[in-house]
Amino acid sequence: MNSMKKVQKCNKANFATKEDAVKKISDIKETDRGTKIKPRRSYYCKICQCFHLTSMTKKQQYSLKVKLDYSQELRKEIIKKEIEEEYYLKKFNIK
Ligand SMILES: [Zn+2]
Repeated sequence: MNSMKKVQKCNKANFATKEDAVKKISDIKETDRGTKIKPRRSYYCKICQCFHLTSMTKKQQYSLKVKLDYSQELRKEIIKKEIEEEYYLKKFNIK
């Protein structure tokens, strides 16, 4: 059985420290003049516990996060309802 504490890996480039990520951003600014999407900021990722780069502004990222959190909450509610439903169906032997 896998340990629950195992840190997951993201497909995105990850940096062990914020300094590394910030340095990469300035490197890209220096060299990659042709690319349209350039990372602006670094952010901490809870999934892989590293820093990633993003081209989104803080505001854009925040609104995305709110949407994600919302859908996760919604899913939790649905699961809760399904469990409750099943419980009552069993309890009262409803078929
Ligand atoms: Zn990550």
